[in-house]
Amino acid sequence: MEVFKFGGASVKDAQAVQNMARILDNIGDKRKLVVISAMGKTTNALERAINYYVQNKTVPLTYLEEIKQFHLDVSTQLFLSAPAQLGQKIEAFFKTIITFLENNKNWDYNYIYDQVICYGELLSTVIISEYLSFKNIENTWLDAREIIQTDSTYREAKVDWELTKIAVQQAVNRQKLSITQGFVGGSFNNNSTSLGREGSDYSAAIFAYCLDAKQVCIWKDVDGFYNGDPKIFPNTRVLEQISYREAIELAFYGASIIHPKTLQPLQRKEIPLYIKSFYKPEKVGTLITNGPKIKPKIPCFIVKHNLVLISLSTLDFSFFVEENISEVFALLHHYQVKVDLIQNSAISFSLCVDNRFNLVDDLLLHLKKKYKVSFNKNVSLYTVRHFDNATIASIENVKNILLKQQTRETVQWVTQEKT
Ligand code: ASP
Ligand code: MG
Repeated sequence: MEVFKFGGASVKDAQAVQNMARILDNIGDKRKLVVISAMGKTTNALERAINYYVQNKTVPLTYLEEIKQFHLDVSTQLFLSAPAQLGQKIEAFFKTIITFLENNKNWDYNYIYDQVICYGELLSTVIISEYLSFKNIENTWLDAREIIQTDSTYREAKVDWELTKIAVQQAVNRQKLSITQGFVGGSFNNNSTSLGREGSDYSAAIFAYCLDAKQVCIWKDVDGFYNGDPKIFPNTRVLEQISYREAIELAFYGASIIHPKTLQPLQRKEIPLYIKSFYKPEKVGTLITNGPKIKPKIPCFIVKHNLVLISLSTLDFSFFVEENISEVFALLHHYQVKVDLIQNSAISFSLCVDNRFNLVDDLLLHLKKKYKVSFNKNVSLYTVRHFDNATIASIENVKNILLKQQTRETVQWVTQEKT
C-alpha cells in the first residue's frame, strides 16, 4: 500500500484536478490512500472569513459565498453539469459552517479557526472523490476528522498515535483507493482540529506510519527537492537522493519543500518518501530514505529573511553565565519566539530569532529590564550545507555579514539586507 499527497497547487482548479486524476489512472494500481489539501488558496480565504467573524462577531456571509462559488464553479467545469448530489454536499457544508458560527458562544480564536478551516479540505476531497468516480476510478471518501485522533491544541493539534493507528486500520481498506483530507484531525471531544499550516504532508506521514505503507509520494509543482530555492539561487539542481536526517536538517534550516514534522514518522519505520512533479510524473524526482546522505554531493543553500539579531550582555559586564542563558530561554518560550542561531562569548550572548507572531518587541522590552540589549531587525540567515570554498566566497563577497558560524558540514551567516 502506498500513500500519495497532493497539495493545494496540484488541485488548484478543474484542469489541475483532471491532471491529478490522469496520474492516478496511469499508475493503475489502486491500493492507495490519497491525502489532499484544500484547493489553491482556499485555506487563506477561509482564514480571512474567520478573522472577519472574530473581529466583527457577525457571520462572514460574503466571504463564505465567494468560497462556495469557487468550488461550485470548479465542479461545473469538471462535470459540465455537476451532479445534484455534489452540489447538495457543497451547500450542506456551508450550511453547517453558518449554523456553527451563528450559534457559537466560545470566542477562543484557535477553537473557531479549527471548526471552520477544515472545510477547505472537506470541499476539495468531496469534489475530487466524485470526479474520480465519474472517471470510473472507484474510490472511498474518508473523513480524516474521525481518523486522525488528536488532543485539543487547536491549530497545532498533537496526534494520539495509539488511537489514530486503531482508527486508520479500521477505516482504510488496503486493497482499494481511499481519498481523505490532509491537515485536519478530530479531538476526543468530537471537535475538528488542525495540524498546523501546510500540515498535509504530515497527515500523509501519519497515515503511512499507521498503515506501514510501502512508500509515500508527495506530488508537487516542482521537480523534486532542490539544493536551493531556484527563485533565489542560481544554477540549482534537483537532488536525486537524500537521507531522512539530511532532509530534517535542511527543513530545520528553512528549506520549505516539506513540512518539518513529516520526516520523523517515516524515518521511524524507514518508509521511503518520493517528491515528484505532478507536471512531469515520468521524472524520478527526489527519493528520501535511510540511504546516502546526499546524492549528488553538492552544496545546499537555504535563506530565511526578516529575522532579528539580538545581542545581550549583563548590565555590569559580568560574565554571561548559564543562569542568564536559562532566563533568556524561558523568555523566548514565554513570547513564542523561535531561535534560529545562537552564539556566545564571555560577556555577550547573540541570538538570531524569527518574529513569526510579532512578539519580538515585547521580548526586547522585557530583556531591556535586565540586560544591555542591541538588535538589528530585518536581517537574513544564509545557511550552506556541504559547503566548499567557492560557495563561501559567493556569499561573503556580496553580503554585509554581521555574524558567522561554521561547523564541519554547515556554515551560516547573519546578514544585514542593504537598503
Ligand atoms: N491547506 C492547508 C494549508 O494551506 C494545509 C496544506 O496545504 O498542507 O496550510
Ligand atoms: Mg498547501
